[in-house]
Amino acid sequence: MSVAISLENLTVTYRRHPALHHVSGHFAQGSLTAIVGPNGAGKSTLLKSIMGLVRCNSGRVVKHAAASRIAYLPQQAEIDRSFPISVLDCVLLGYWSKAGLFRRMSRDMVRRAEDALAAVGLDGFAQRSIASLSVGQFQRVLFARILLQDAELILLDEPFSAIDTKTTNDLLHIIKSWHAEQRTVIAVLHDYDQVRRAFPQSLLLARNVVAWGETEAVLCHENLHRARSMAEAVDEHAPLCAVDAADVVDVVDVAHAHGEGAPR
Ligand code: ADP
Ligand code: MG
Repeated sequence: MSVAISLENLTVTYRRHPALHHVSGHFAQGSLTAIVGPNGAGKSTLLKSIMGLVRCNSGRVVKHAAASRIAYLPQQAEIDRSFPISVLDCVLLGYWSKAGLFRRMSRDMVRRAEDALAAVGLDGFAQRSIASLSVGQFQRVLFARILLQDAELILLDEPFSAIDTKTTNDLLHIIKSWHAEQRTVIAVLHDYDQVRRAFPQSLLLARNVVAWGETEAVLCHENLHRARSMAEAVDEHAPLCAVDAADVVDVVDVAHAHGEGAPR
């Protein structure tokens, strides 16, 4: 088995409070993993540390050869779609890494973007502005963009929150096809039944790793109870643990850098 991403004793803190605390483990190449856990458990922070959007205070994320091209879908709340561009142009942004920002898109690239729109059920939407779409339609656009990226590792942060059942099922189908193509997929999810049905592996987080492995074993009653009580037990005013206190530097969270909650 080859490894796509290793987490080695990873600790990330915001204003000296750990969001991830000594997290170790790995995501195998071609694995399909759900990240679950209570609010504030560090799920988004974990995806951001894999993307390099936040800095690790200690430990590290190792990206192996099987994770050289990464696609990342942030939580809806972090995406600004007041930007006046068409659905087609939004999908074509998936080529940024290949074509560069100012290179002209070839006819073939445009055709493939239109094919990707058809694959997510948005035939005929190419010229609509992204601002005019429903939340579910916009999520389909973002999945079409990932289809173009041809990434080996795909990170999805709550891809189905506020999304209707039909869209969720269609997008789950696309995730399964990525899995069948041996891509590594990691998705933050909340619906345990959905995770049990569609995700063979799970990582249950509550700042620390509560359990990581086969979904059925991870999502047992005892682990879920432990995750809840670990989240409730967190004291925001507690002093730092000795290991972290040694060299804490506030992380830079690019996604939040200009918003509320940005580290100072
Ligand atoms: P989850 O995605 O599991 O809900 P997050 O990774 O978003 O959790 O957040 C983990 C913890 O870090 C929470 O307590 C949250 O309030 C805090 N946090 C997240 N982002 C920032 C930030 N940019 N500045 C300060 N604190 C943050
Ligand atoms: Mg989150």
